[in-house]
Amino acid sequence: MIFPITDLLDDDHSEKWLLEHFHPEGLQCPKCGSGQARRRIFRQAKTSGLTVYRCLECEGVYNLYSGTIFEKKHLRPSQVVLLLRGVVKGESSLAVAQELGMSRTAVHYLRKELQENAHNLQPQAPLIDEHTETDEMFQNAGEKR
Ligand SMILES: [Zn+2]
Repeated sequence: MIFPITDLLDDDHSEKWLLEHFHPEGLQCPKCGSGQARRRIFRQAKTSGLTVYRCLECEGVYNLYSGTIFEKKHLRPSQVVLLLRGVVKGESSLAVAQELGMSRTAVHYLRKELQENAHNLQPQAPLIDEHTETDEMFQNAGEKR
């Protein structure tokens, strides 16, 4: 049975959660770094529902996903939250794809990007205790074979 989980999970709450995790310092223009005071709402994205901003300093156009691997993927915030959750929990690409109504290829590609990012964030020095949990989390995010 497939639960209509993206219909049940609120996009506004998901957007807030993503903002806190992707941009803990607040959403800024990825080109020039200008913040909230130096932008205007440009439009609402049709598929993702995200607000698209235009920077008043450099005319750059950006949204919550700009500069992340979710840029130009047109996913709703609830889909991104559940995709991240599925990858971290080690669910198969097929299971995540079915749950989110996405193609398995798209999920597989995003998973690979996430794992590469996680790998690049690993400390080069031997792990000390505080890093171990993160390390284990991403080891478990691997594809089940
Ligand atoms: Zn700018």
